[in-house]
Amino acid sequence: MPTKSKSSKAKKSPSSKTPKYVYSFGNGKADGNGKMKALLGGKGANLAEMTRIRLPVPPGFTISTEVCTYYYDHKRTYPPALEKQIDEAIHKLETAMGKKFGDQKDPLLVAVRSGARDSMPGMMDTILNLGLNDRTVRALAERSKNERFAYDCYRRFLQMYGDVVMGVQKRAGEDHEPFEVVIEELKKELFPKDPHVSDTKLDATALRTLTDRFRKLIRDRTGKDFPEDPREQLRGAVGAVFGSWNNERAIIYRRKYNIPHEWGTAVNVQAMVFGNTGNDSGSGVSFTRDPATGEKVLYGEFLLNAQGEDVVAGVRTPEPVLQLQVEMPEVYRQLQDVRLTLESHFHDMQDFEFTVEQGRLFMLQTRNGKRTGFAAVRIAVEMVKEKLIKPDDAIQRIPADSLSQLLAPVFDSRARKTTQVIARGLPAGPGAASGKIYFSANEAEAAAQRGEKVLLVRVETSPEDIRGMLAAEGILTARGGVSSHAALVARQMGKVCVCGASELQIDYASNTLHVRGQNFRKGDFLSIDGTTGEIFPGEVKTSPSDIVRVLIDKDLTPAESPIYRVFAQLMQWADQRRTMEVRANADQPDQVGHAVAFGAQGVGLCRTEHMFFEGDRIDHVREMILAENGDERGKALAKLLPAQRSDFAGIFKALKGLPATIRFLDPPLHEFIPHDEASQRDLAEKLGISVDRVARRVKELHEFNPMLGHRGCRLGIVYPEISEMQARAVFEAAAEVQASGIKVRPEIMIPLVGFPKELELQIALVHNVAAQVQKERNVKFSYLVGTMIEIPRACVVADEIAKSAQFFSFGTNDLTQTTLGMSRDDAGSFLPRYQEEEIVRQNPFAVLDQGGVGKLMETAVKLGRSTRKDIKLGICGEHGGEPDSVKFCHRLGLAYVSCSPFRLPIARLAAAQAALKN
Ligand code: PEP
Ligand code: MG
Repeated sequence: MPTKSKSSKAKKSPSSKTPKYVYSFGNGKADGNGKMKALLGGKGANLAEMTRIRLPVPPGFTISTEVCTYYYDHKRTYPPALEKQIDEAIHKLETAMGKKFGDQKDPLLVAVRSGARDSMPGMMDTILNLGLNDRTVRALAERSKNERFAYDCYRRFLQMYGDVVMGVQKRAGEDHEPFEVVIEELKKELFPKDPHVSDTKLDATALRTLTDRFRKLIRDRTGKDFPEDPREQLRGAVGAVFGSWNNERAIIYRRKYNIPHEWGTAVNVQAMVFGNTGNDSGSGVSFTRDPATGEKVLYGEFLLNAQGEDVVAGVRTPEPVLQLQVEMPEVYRQLQDVRLTLESHFHDMQDFEFTVEQGRLFMLQTRNGKRTGFAAVRIAVEMVKEKLIKPDDAIQRIPADSLSQLLAPVFDSRARKTTQVIARGLPAGPGAASGKIYFSANEAEAAAQRGEKVLLVRVETSPEDIRGMLAAEGILTARGGVSSHAALVARQMGKVCVCGASELQIDYASNTLHVRGQNFRKGDFLSIDGTTGEIFPGEVKTSPSDIVRVLIDKDLTPAESPIYRVFAQLMQWADQRRTMEVRANADQPDQVGHAVAFGAQGVGLCRTEHMFFEGDRIDHVREMILAENGDERGKALAKLLPAQRSDFAGIFKALKGLPATIRFLDPPLHEFIPHDEASQRDLAEKLGISVDRVARRVKELHEFNPMLGHRGCRLGIVYPEISEMQARAVFEAAAEVQASGIKVRPEIMIPLVGFPKELELQIALVHNVAAQVQKERNVKFSYLVGTMIEIPRACVVADEIAKSAQFFSFGTNDLTQTTLGMSRDDAGSFLPRYQEEEIVRQNPFAVLDQGGVGKLMETAVKLGRSTRKDIKLGICGEHGGEPDSVKFCHRLGLAYVSCSPFRLPIARLAAAQAALKN
């Protein structure tokens, strides 16, 4: 950062060899534009763009993200050319404003804001009113003829600067911000009878006292004086913004949303406009459509006589922006125009900040608005209908994951009717959530880690609460509006949120919540409805979403559900564009029915062992496991056969001609037998054998490392009669269903193959049984036999395996486990630390490790195709429903992804996005 304090005269623009670091905007002209987000950050690029389209933007300049990168690459120093460029930009700004930085008569005051490429709400720090000091504050008072206003600006500046630049913040164990404590103390002195008076009751003298006390606080806490020199102030502010890129909450946020740390932030320096000059001024945050529901209305809030930070911080509860229609009709009309201009220019829902200074509207920011999954789908589909965007745009802009919100449960209507609403807040993040209440983010996080369902309850949230918010099912606040920090962050996380429930009296000290005569303590249950804003005592039962009711329960028709209709439209567009098929992991006929309703084009994984736990089947399974020889085993298997056959028949019927990949028994046998003495005695009695025999067999089956033990195809090789029974059940069911006129397409899948011979043995067995059944029943049916690719050896000998396998299905759960040598069941104990240390970016069991596991998949695909050109390829690990992994599978050229039924819409959308990207 430059050290010169005087602004130099405008000079020639830097030579072409000198990188441009500073971009000015103002009076209809801008060096940058809306496409330069990588360089200017989202805020800077859009300030330039809004300037170009002649929206009323206060002039200013943007210091590029390259400076941030340079700053971190060069031990927190700045490029040498920066100082001169900032001087020139300040000079331009002074000329545009007709004011001078640090001037004793008419000082230029600026706002300094961060702005990364992607918006990071509340994550970075902002400083307003920079340029004020003990002298310029008097100039401001004189020019504005409003001493109270001038000192209000000054104390805000001191507060923000003290906090953000000089680090005067809450210390461990303190519940309140130190500056707030000073304000509260002064109020107590001045209004002993009513210490909770609003800030607006503090007059000029009180505010001046406050500025003295703030400066003292800064000195006491830091040992340093607050800097009077505006250029030094700017230097500090710019450094703090760059520094804040690496504060803990920014890092957590980037990790969660996968924003690369290398991007850096820009710094925006912009002439101040004041929303706090009186009741003809104010600040607001608005959306061009409702970000919770997607409805096409101007939506947002406004605070009279306030600066923008007051609205976002949620400290005062603002009024709806529609109220401006009454209070400032001309501004309201202009806002409606702005709304149309923004949408027709940016072709997306915008979230914008504005300030009204003495009746004049100024735009301070616009960006694509964060929205719920509901709103994302509705806005995109409606914008296509309004010809603002094309269906391809609609598909590409909806985060595929957000569809999970549309399928999430809502409160069961009967349970809700019988539960009394105890209070209401603002509906800020839709959906239904129940959980035990915790009043601090840390405690909420700890409780969630213990497996509790948690609601985070706060007076208001701040970025420090982000971990607790992430861990909670829902967030409830007593203060703050629908654009408060809690609301913005919750919406983006897809969390249920009710905010601004002002009747709640929250006492952090005693960990209690008091509302309408009722008390709730830490750990008590509450339920919140983020769609209506209602708050209920206790745990309230939930019921399915509209989409589930239309598609699965069939107790709602499409005509009755607008959200279903936009969802269906989106799915139709996605299906028309995607080239990959989607299948479901489903084990039972009813699940298969659901999957087909959600768009499955077949079953990609039927885990046959999941059928073993129903009714008395488990006894037959146990009998089979305890068998001492093949004969005994055969008898037990014969008892299992009819049950398996009827399940397969049910699946074939539900599929109505779609393919079903049926996997043979996979888990280690000990998973099916009882380990405690009482259950062993019980089992012995049922099977008419001695308890010792049961105990002995259990001991024999014990494995130190069962995941790498006797499981997968190793079972069918050692006990071929198990595979024979399963093959017979599949083929007899196929023959039966085919005879009833329904097409069947069984695909038998052998698990955990590593050696080609393993597969060959099992395939021979399957063909044998198929031939027998076809002969016995005098029918013909077609079927495929293939394998899972889930251990590294299979990937590297895939050419050999493909000689006998008609298809490969990547079992990426086991492939991740075996490639990384990380137990899929135990990795939870160390993975969070691994993510913190950035050894891994994401949990590799949720998001495919493309650089490692993905490389093995690539090898397997290449080798597999080298021997069998048209080999059918799919994936059935959990990654098959995760958007980034789905896109990777598309790039690999897989024919389908298979995932759980509720993730099918996500997979369909992600597959369409991948196809469009190509
Ligand atoms: C896999 O390993 O990816 C898989 C689908 O099989 P399972 O999860 O049953 O081991
Ligand atoms: Mg597996």
